[in-house]
Amino acid sequence: MSPIEPEETARTLKDVQEFDTRILALKRGIEGLADTHHLPELREELEKAKASREGLEADLDEIKHKQLKLDGEVDLLSQKIEKEEARMMSGTIMNPKELQSIQQEIFSLRKKRDEMETEDLEEMEAIDDLRAALEAAGKAVEEVTTEESEAVRAYEAELAEKEAEVARLEAERDELKKGLDEDTVEAYEKLLSTKDGLAVVQIVQGRSCGGCHIEFSRTQIDRFQHEEGVFRCEYCRRMLVK
Ligand SMILES: [Zn+2]
Repeated sequence: MSPIEPEETARTLKDVQEFDTRILALKRGIEGLADTHHLPELREELEKAKASREGLEADLDEIKHKQLKLDGEVDLLSQKIEKEEARMMSGTIMNPKELQSIQQEIFSLRKKRDEMETEDLEEMEAIDDLRAALEAAGKAVEEVTTEESEAVRAYEAELAEKEAEVARLEAERDELKKGLDEDTVEAYEKLLSTKDGLAVVQIVQGRSCGGCHIEFSRTQIDRFQHEEGVFRCEYCRRMLVK
């Protein structure tokens, strides 16, 4: 195997770094993708809409139950009134005081029934209002559900696309890496993980590090001018290429 030319190594390293920079940007995009598509907010909104619908359902059940009970009580009162009226009309009670007391009883029973019927009407109105609110709440749940599933679909499509792009770039990068010797690859990968994804940088204007931006000494600048290949920044340790 012929030794790899220093210039070629430098070129390859620069290309490999370019691939890794693009891969890293894509991976960061993937990490933030759920937020980009507003998935957490939409899920929260959906839960709130469902909770609101459930609350209204519970209120409606309660008031329906109350109304049913009230209807039963009104029926009982009506039966009682009928019974008292029948007793009064039967002609069996002759005592005027007793008749008067029955009359009074009927009067107060009727008054109570009227009150209950008013209450019943009010509850019927409340039931109508609750039904309308429940219908609106149901529509809100449907709308947010649609919005959320559309967002999930868009998120999944973009995720698949980005993941495929990462895989494609990684394959190309790995192919390029075959042109580097093992030690260089090892050093590169170590730097990549410790230097926030930036292992190889250019020597800016022949005099400073593209990674840490430190300006080199005259001697070093001379070296860069007269030698070829890969250098190391003595400050940030990154690989320097021209
Ligand atoms: Zn540096």
